[in-house]
Amino acid sequence: MPLVSMRQLLDEAAAGGYGVGAFNVNNMEQIQAVMDAASDTRSPVIIQASRGARSYTNDRFLIHLMWAATEVYPEVPVALHLDHGNEPDTCFSAIEQGFTSVMMDGSLLADGKTPSDFEYNVRVTRQVVERAHAAGVTVEGELGTLGGIEDGHGSGEVHLTDPDQAVEFVERTGIDALAVAIGTSHGAYKFTKPPDGEVLAMNLIEEIHSKLPDTHLVMHGSSSVPKELVDEINRYGGEIAPTWGVPVEEIQLGIRHGVRKINVDTDARLAMTGAIRKVFAGDKGEFDPRKYLAPARDAMKAVYVERMTQFGQAGHAGDYEPLTLEELRERYAAAV
Ligand SMILES: [Zn+2]
Repeated sequence: MPLVSMRQLLDEAAAGGYGVGAFNVNNMEQIQAVMDAASDTRSPVIIQASRGARSYTNDRFLIHLMWAATEVYPEVPVALHLDHGNEPDTCFSAIEQGFTSVMMDGSLLADGKTPSDFEYNVRVTRQVVERAHAAGVTVEGELGTLGGIEDGHGSGEVHLTDPDQAVEFVERTGIDALAVAIGTSHGAYKFTKPPDGEVLAMNLIEEIHSKLPDTHLVMHGSSSVPKELVDEINRYGGEIAPTWGVPVEEIQLGIRHGVRKINVDTDARLAMTGAIRKVFAGDKGEFDPRKYLAPARDAMKAVYVERMTQFGQAGHAGDYEPLTLEELRERYAAAV
């Protein structure tokens, strides 16, 4: 099956009352691990690439690896999504490459650092929606800013999403999915203590969902940073300071209130690093990359299987026939 529309994946998730993990990838082993986990758990899944991942893979390696993924795992509905497009041109080039979904993050200016104003965000996001929908491609927007910095992207400032402004933003832009800022942040160092209701504004998700029941909500920075993964790295010579991520129960609460896409990157990075460190610590003479990349791939797969099960997407791969982007294009055209 070809790469499928993220819009359809999220519509189906809404109908089924579950969430879909969106996993960041940079290389072949990560893509294989996600696809193998999705196949084993019969999960629809989203694979996403940041601007950093696109330049690391030179785009063409990434897109061909994704095509290989759809050939090897025809039973897995998978969408390819651009994470944090910084300006319309970045989104347009992703669409040309074959991405089936793009994020226009107009909450920041094109430098990916400076918070923008509302009118700028509406303007650039609308521009992307018009061109993307004409190609059947899904668009995610962002309102409010997350904490933390990811691949050089982020202002480091947190501005929570305003629910009333979210309604106006969705109406004026026509986006399919909205990334909400509720106090999560990018990277491994999210919280200095276990997050509670004061740190994570889960009530905001409920309020936004009640005002925008048909817009799919997205939680960024939603790695759980399990202590065992951090401990594994440190046991084999790493030095990662104590840190806390987003508890899975909070994500599950979000899924009950309209969260359909959950972005996870850090957890797989931690799993991969721990597995490689373990091999090197056990055999200092090892130099066959397959001997450490295969365990790294297995460790990442275990994380993906766990998240797919926790988010509820497991078991839903065969629920529906994927639509073509042409069918999505016609649907968007009819809706205008
Ligand atoms: Zn993000």
